Amino acid sequence: MFANNPLDRASHRRVDQAWLDARLKDPRSRLLAYRDLKPMLVEGAEKGPAWLRPGLIEADFGGRGAVVFLGLEGEIAHFAVEIRDSNDALEGMGGAFRDLRECVLTGDIGGEEAAILAQGKALIDWHSRHRFCAACGNPTILAEAGYKRSCSACGAEHFPRTDPVVIMLAHRDGKALLGRGKNFPGRMFSALAGFVEPGETIEEAVAREIREEAGVEVGTVHYHATQPWPFPMSLMIGCLAEAISEEIMVDEAELAEARWVPRETLRAVLEGKGDGSLWVPPPMAIAHHLIRAFVEL
Ligand SMILES: [Zn+2]
Repeated sequence: MFANNPLDRASHRRVDQAWLDARLKDPRSRLLAYRDLKPMLVEGAEKGPAWLRPGLIEADFGGRGAVVFLGLEGEIAHFAVEIRDSNDALEGMGGAFRDLRECVLTGDIGGEEAAILAQGKALIDWHSRHRFCAACGNPTILAEAGYKRSCSACGAEHFPRTDPVVIMLAHRDGKALLGRGKNFPGRMFSALAGFVEPGETIEEAVAREIREEAGVEVGTVHYHATQPWPFPMSLMIGCLAEAISEEIMVDEAELAEARWVPRETLRAVLEGKGDGSLWVPPPMAIAHHLIRAFVEL
């Protein structure tokens, strides 16, 4: 989920303001509106982003916030636009603003479209929270098609962030270490996770988080895959880790429970044959794929 973005980001175009201005007037260009960080989606049977014509938003809908260039599909430029007013006429155009997480959970949105929506959401979110310079406190202005903000006073340049998060499954003797967060629904268990800290490698972050949350020591760490996670702007780095100790000591500030779960139990859960005492995250989450990778080891 949120991977395989089909757009060519064409980053060399971001500094070409004349080209960007022309694309924003080009009737072939496509704009995706966001309000309160919710993308506008087509209603009805055929779900997807509600792509709008450039003139439509400029002419009829004021209160425009950040405009960011997403990329090209062939020669067609794609932009994300933040709508700040609450003009309901936009929704009359055949779309509605919907929560992105909810849309992927329900399966209304997936595949390449989810990746484009995630790119737009992460960027719009970043602009909405970086309107002032972190160095001097003065207002910043959007630059380079949305991939930079420049300070109007001190000239400092600020760039969109991606926050690395490690998410990992420790395993030993055919069992995997799963944790249950305090706010998890029902009997949901998942892989442990945490932010990579400054000055830390991915491997060190994996070992530290497992030690801190569950008291288990790990040796070799294997990278599995990554997943963009635009809530607000993380990159989930999925790993499998070989545990070298078994005793669990849960950090009760972080987890309600952690346990070693046998491979055959997880295989049954993935095949829909579990006894209901343990749930795992759905396929939209990288944790699901880590559990699957462990089952197939
Ligand atoms: Zn400044």
